[in-house]
Parts: sequence; C-alpha cells; structure tokens
Amino acid sequence: MNRKEKTLRREIIDTCLRMNREGINQGTSGNVSARWNDGMLITPSGVPYEDLRARNIVFVDGNGTPASGQRPSSEWRFHLAILQARPEVGAVVHTHSVHATALSIRGMEIPAVHYMVAAAGGPTIRCAPYATFGTRELSDRALQALTDRRACLLANHGLIATGPDLSRALWLAGEVETLARQYILSLSLGEPKILPDDEVARVAQRLEILHRAPEATTRDETGFDPPAGGKDTARHV
Ligand code: 13P
Ligand code: ZN
Repeated sequence: MNRKEKTLRREIIDTCLRMNREGINQGTSGNVSARWNDGMLITPSGVPYEDLRARNIVFVDGNGTPASGQRPSSEWRFHLAILQARPEVGAVVHTHSVHATALSIRGMEIPAVHYMVAAAGGPTIRCAPYATFGTRELSDRALQALTDRRACLLANHGLIATGPDLSRALWLAGEVETLARQYILSLSLGEPKILPDDEVARVAQRLEILHRAPEATTRDETGFDPPAGGKDTARHV
C-alpha cells in the first residue's frame, strides 16, 4: 500500500467518523467509498467506525471483486455503479440521516424549498423507490434517481450524496439532511412556497462558479457586488 492509498483510506475513516459526529448518521449504518484505480476503496460491512484502521478499508475492483478475505459494505453495488456511470464522481457517501429518511419513508422527494437544493444539481432531490438493501435492484433504482443529480433519497432507508472528493460528498450529505429538516418544519407551518426552476438553475450556476478555485473566477462571473470600500469579496454560499 503506497502513501497515497494509505492517505485515502484514512480519509474514508475520517469521513465516517465525521458523518456520525455531525449527526447525519448513527452506529454502523451508512457507508463511504472513494474511486481508486479501476475500482474503489470502501468501508467494510458492519464494523464500528471507531474500530476502523486503514487496512480494514476494502479495495473492490472494477468487476466487483473484493480484496481476498475482506467483506466490503453490503452496498458496494451502488457505490461501484455510481462511480462507473459518473466519471465526475470521486466519492460516494450513504447515510441514514433522520430527516431525509423521514421523508423517504413517505416516498417524498425534496422540492426547491430553499435555494440550496441547487447544490444537488436540480430543482428536486428525487426519492428512489424502495428495494432491499444491498441488492442490484436498489443499485439500479438509486442510479436512476441520480440522473442529472448529485444526491437522492432511498425510500424507507436514507440518502446518497456524491462529490468529486470525500469532503464534498460529505458536505452535500449534510446539506441534503438540512434541506429535509427545513422542508419538514415548513410543512408543519402550512403550504411551502417552492422556488421556480429558472431560479434553481441560476443558483446552480452561481454555486458552480463559487466552488471553483478563487483564482479561476472573475468577479464579473460571480455577479456579486463587492463589499463597500473593500477590494476582495468574501466567498459565501
Ligand atoms: P454496511 O455496514 O454493510 O455498509 O451496511 C450499512 C447500510 O447502511 C446498508 O444500507
Ligand atoms: Zn443503508
């Protein structure tokens, strides 16, 4: 195992610990993967995250074959299917966060109740129909729900968030859980106002620019007014 691989294995463990610490997952539910060579590195099945060491993270090759003697997450199929179907994705995070799962129990998608829905790539975050965990059927349904999106809900189960790397995938999982919580709260107050598709598209464009390296972005592109008297703009999302 070279230094780069060891670092990535450690980042996967760190991502797992963070998702539980940040309250978007609990216990040994959820799983995390990152693209590696022709396949991926993925968490093992059912091991408490505090007990994980770099050597416990499992390499699964492009044919779905795990390193000998190791048992990958039961959800290795959808992790590999997403990484293979979506070249821009470098990492996949799956959690059982409470509010996203509550919506998924009702088979509900998340509409554009807040502009941050655009972070997931479109005006809705779809909910894939239910299928038993660890099955090809679940993998197929998840992939379908992720069409043109970076995240989806899984009915009666949880959520999937993707990103170019682990930190962005974890960030998006947190954003989806926050959106789910905001949506549920707003439903309890009455009929939520939904943002129109063209506004979500405008926000998506702005977020895309803001997520680029600052030196690759001109102020004209961001379209944000500079602060009065200041030279540099603070970058908020
Ligand atoms: P694993 O421990 O096998 O990754 O399973 C957790 C899970 O979330 C199944 O959907
Ligand atoms: Zn799960």
